[in-house]
Amino acid sequence: MRNGEFARQRDPYEVKLQKVFERNGIDDLVARYEEMGYGGMTPIPHEIINEMPNGRILLGDNCAEYLKIMIEVTRQRRVEVPFVMIGETVYDTNEVLFDDFYTVRESSASRLGEMSCDIQTVLGEHEELEPNFKERIKELQKRNDGSRAIICFGHTHPNRSAYYGTYSKEDFNNIIQYDDSIGQARSSVGDDRAQTLGCMVAANGDVDFMFYDRTVSNFYKFRSVAGRKLDGRVERFQSYSFRTPMPGR
Ligand SMILES: [Zn+2]
Repeated sequence: MRNGEFARQRDPYEVKLQKVFERNGIDDLVARYEEMGYGGMTPIPHEIINEMPNGRILLGDNCAEYLKIMIEVTRQRRVEVPFVMIGETVYDTNEVLFDDFYTVRESSASRLGEMSCDIQTVLGEHEELEPNFKERIKELQKRNDGSRAIICFGHTHPNRSAYYGTYSKEDFNNIIQYDDSIGQARSSVGDDRAQTLGCMVAANGDVDFMFYDRTVSNFYKFRSVAGRKLDGRVERFQSYSFRTPMPGR
């Protein structure tokens, strides 16, 4: 029997996401945002997402510098720029240290003009990215001090709508997909502790890190973001200060 064979198949990520909304009791609110007709761009207000317990992001000086450039680009141009960072947790804690940054090369950035580009562009331009991540996993396996390898998929949100300063439904969908996509890297080196993070740089200067915990199927935001300067001092990055307008306003 093949009952329901012709039933319309729902995107499996869409189903996962809907479960997350229901679990957090925000499915009604999300539905109200969806009624505005933004589709995949439906805003998911960061205000209703849980905070990562003791979550902290520390950016090495090169990552801090690059992220500042990202903030400037996001303020000045209407381009959505993707980037990737590689790092690791501090032992077995929720503190993450990033020290490796990749983004689109200048040539394709200028070719893109006012257009957006996606993370595939970054992955395509840096063939060393995936081997570097696997190398990191192997290094940590040798060190065996509880630290996990982290790969972060980021993009920028220029001020193009009233909701520019928060994640979209599609962003959340992507974060779950990125986590699945590194599953291969995880299994090829026999380590399932490697994890992904999402990052969104908004035109107001917010740097918003988001974690999808596949073990409990839920999202968590990192509020504390700091960067190391070349002189060794640490400076704070602003995060989640944007106030998401209520639906229909
Ligand atoms: Zn986005």
